[in-house]
Amino acid sequence: MTSGNSCVFVITGPSGVGKGSLIARLRERIPSLEMSVSATTRKPRSGESDGVDYHFLDPAEFDRRVAAGEFLEYADYSGNRYGTLRSEVEARIEAGHPVVLEIEVQGARQIRETMPSAVQVFIAPPEFDALRSRLEGRGTDRSEAIEARLAVAEQELLARDEFPHRVVNDDLDRAADALEAIVRGKLSQSQG
Ligand code: 5GP
Repeated sequence: MTSGNSCVFVITGPSGVGKGSLIARLRERIPSLEMSVSATTRKPRSGESDGVDYHFLDPAEFDRRVAAGEFLEYADYSGNRYGTLRSEVEARIEAGHPVVLEIEVQGARQIRETMPSAVQVFIAPPEFDALRSRLEGRGTDRSEAIEARLAVAEQELLARDEFPHRVVNDDLDRAADALEAIVRGKLSQSQG
């Protein structure tokens, strides 16, 4: 599959950096952007719904879909599996909508190979400790899970220079301005 003239935006970066909040802000500003709903073997957190936040799959079903070639990319992350279903992205591209993928770094690397026209943006924290405060503050993970995520985050931060676009999330509005400029730049190129 190629993305042709459709725009695919990959927003990556460590857990706790604020990718979700930043994307929510971006979508308020550019409502035509559609999200690809990922699949995961992680259990739903309170308030999350199946088919909206994620497609929650058990590990056997996830494996079955991997074997059937249903994923554009997938990765193990902190004890669970996460992946982008082809169907999520293809349906939106066919309908002519720009698509946003919010994924971790291993998945972003796979998309770089399989869909080189996708625009990849790495979201970085102003400093490492900001990740801990954010993960603790949102209260969604147990302390062991937070430590595991921070260990992965340290590695993920080393990958920042691989990405052509980098946005430091020091201030949500400022970071949203920077991300919006990148996205609008690509959207206007593809329309022109
Ligand atoms: P969380 O458990 O906090 O929802 O997500 C953990 C990490 O997995 C985050 O960095 C998130 O961006 C990433 N993630 C979510 N969906 C996908 C996906 O489809 N593929 C990959 N590779 N990572 C994903």
